[in-house]
Amino acid sequence: RAKDDGGGEHRGYEPALHANAEERRQLEFALRRALENREMELNFQPVVNAQSEEVVSFEALVRWNSPEHGPVRPDKFVPIAEDTRLIVPIGTWVMEQACREATNWPDHVRIAVNVSPEQLFEPDFASTVVQALTVSGLDAQRLELEVTESIFLRDASVARASLEQCLALGCTIALDDFGTGYSSLGYLRKLPFSTIKIDRSFVQGAAQSSKESLAIIRAVVAMADALEMTTTAEGVESAEEAELIRKLGCTKIQGYYFGRPMRAPDALQLFRRRQSDAPDRLRA
Ligand code: C2E
Ligand code: MG
Ligand code: MG
Ligand code: MG
Repeated sequence: RAKDDGGGEHRGYEPALHANAEERRQLEFALRRALENREMELNFQPVVNAQSEEVVSFEALVRWNSPEHGPVRPDKFVPIAEDTRLIVPIGTWVMEQACREATNWPDHVRIAVNVSPEQLFEPDFASTVVQALTVSGLDAQRLELEVTESIFLRDASVARASLEQCLALGCTIALDDFGTGYSSLGYLRKLPFSTIKIDRSFVQGAAQSSKESLAIIRAVVAMADALEMTTTAEGVESAEEAELIRKLGCTKIQGYYFGRPMRAPDALQLFRRRQSDAPDRLRA
């Protein structure tokens, strides 16, 4: 606020900046009470095998319904939660809820949980994973942790040690939003990722016949194959996009076409609706 009185040439920007900071302060205030007030909920979005279209996993996506602010998108509140470190207790809650929910699904269906760098830089991250697996009774092999390239921006040794402990438990690690960060291919050598998630922006680009996006997806798929990693294409919204992605050789597909993020009972319904011997396909 120190500059409020000076810098006349900037005056036009001040109301917007001020509103932004004020809104942020209010969101932060509300966020501090969100967990204890039970305002957080998880949604689950299906991920399908690109060839068979069977559901192989769900990604847990946190939702915040604030009494004061209404539904707040994670793109808005997760960064605030990260800055204030509130993401640590929120992340622990997400991990436990996600693991609990997954125990209601068929054994071959896995759960993917987004993990913020702030969580990974807590030295006891692995013990929160152990705790979630223990209280839920979920098999560690059914848990995938999604991390982004941003974990490599800081001294990665703490994060790497945490992730290596999780790998030793039997969890797998996916590299989320690939291609949007500071993409240095060297990251791929630093941890044994099982999956590279190709960001929605490339999928959308490819769908609009962007030569660059198509070339990038092809290159990522070839590289993942060579490194014995799988690929998941994010943000597939139509049959045409699904077909294109399949042809490009991605292993798995996630997107509105196969299913939007849904509440736990609806995810469960996807399995209940089918005969127990039929594959869990979202589209007939
Ligand atoms: P993300 O991990 O890359 O998750 C995928 C996002 O893409 C989700 O947005 C999902 O709803 C959206 N999406 C999926 N398919 C489609 C599609 O076909 N079209 C479009 N337009 N969007 C699609 P969402 O749920 O709003 O989450 C946004 C981001 O917030 C996530 O990106 C993740 O980075 C973060 N986030 C969400 N839940 C958590 C959480 O529990 N912990 C942490 N640390 N971050 C989370
Ligand atoms: Mg994710
Ligand atoms: Mg992503
Ligand atoms: Mg993202």
